[in-house]
Amino acid sequence: MANLSLYSTGSCSSLVSSSSGRPLKITLQQKRRVYLRSAKNQVERRLSVVCSVGAKERTVPELNEGIANFYNESSGIWEEVWGEHMHHGYYDPNSKDAGDHKEAQIRMIEESLAWAGIPEDEENKPRTVVDVGCGIGGSARYLARKYNANVKAITLSPIQAQRGTAITADQGLSKSVNFQVADALKQPFSDGEFDLVWSMESGEHMPDKRKVLFLNIGSAIISRRIQFVQELARVAAPDGRILIVTWCHRDLKPAELSLSPEELELLDKICDAYYLPAWCSPSDYVRIAESIGLKDVKSADWSEYVTPFWPAVMVSALSLKGLFGLAKAGWTTIKGALAMGLMVQGYQRGLIKFALITARKAS
Ligand code: SAH
Repeated sequence: MANLSLYSTGSCSSLVSSSSGRPLKITLQQKRRVYLRSAKNQVERRLSVVCSVGAKERTVPELNEGIANFYNESSGIWEEVWGEHMHHGYYDPNSKDAGDHKEAQIRMIEESLAWAGIPEDEENKPRTVVDVGCGIGGSARYLARKYNANVKAITLSPIQAQRGTAITADQGLSKSVNFQVADALKQPFSDGEFDLVWSMESGEHMPDKRKVLFLNIGSAIISRRIQFVQELARVAAPDGRILIVTWCHRDLKPAELSLSPEELELLDKICDAYYLPAWCSPSDYVRIAESIGLKDVKSADWSEYVTPFWPAVMVSALSLKGLFGLAKAGWTTIKGALAMGLMVQGYQRGLIKFALITARKAS
């Protein structure tokens, strides 16, 4: 079938050989198969243009190994300079003074929970939480204390899991917070285990956001899914909440099929430095969440609330402690530090969006 082209679609389609151009005699069943394959290719091509950038292709094992190494190497220096939270701070866009950055990181957690409407009352607050892509467990411990919840935390980095476990023991929280090295796309948890599924700045690392599942009803292509969101939905309890805080690229304008080549080039460089696969937009997440039956799906763009963050990270990297730590950590971390300016550029151009997506699993 490789040398057949679809001449036109619908019931009166006819097929021609792409080498001779002569019409070919084929059965109705063959015709339907070619039509479906061609339609699938067209949609796949369109989706890959719409929701991916031309990120350096890495296989999933290569990507995961790179992520694990990156965090194994860089988490120590990050903790020394910034502490236990490895995510953006939330800042007042009307204030000239960014204030304390560690407080801004706590504010990010609180504001995200409030925006998602996570209940705080005794009866409805989350009792079981999974922290997907947990770093050294800053959020995991915060959520365990806030809700008196049992928290399971996963990361790809063995060093982070070890360090998270040690800090948690020092803080007397070992009974309620547990760390494992595990993949967010194959979580070692049962279906429906968690009242709150929390992913703070890990979604940008997740592969297969381009992965498309096609379900055929007749010849209709009805569904495409993201594995990451599906896995988050799987482990959420009935009526449980999912909250994803993540880096996205801007939504495409109605007439656009793709980001511009310059935008793609900038994202590619960032992907290379931070071990990110293809990016997607906030609207992609919303469509995907809705397509898998999640309820009350909403998203927000908080880019304006995070502006001081990357410049502050750059300043800290240039401090004596930062420079010494970078030299000690190694090339992967230095490459990450060099890419900080690209993040600032991405935000300034309106290309990178700091996005929140929340949803509820049906009861
Ligand atoms: N949420 C943490 C850490 C953010 S850094 C915080 O806010 O402090 C990104 C984290 O995502 C790292 O811990 C990294 O190991 C994790 N991560 C990336 N891809 C992952 C995957 N496929 N499975 C599990 N964890 C992943």
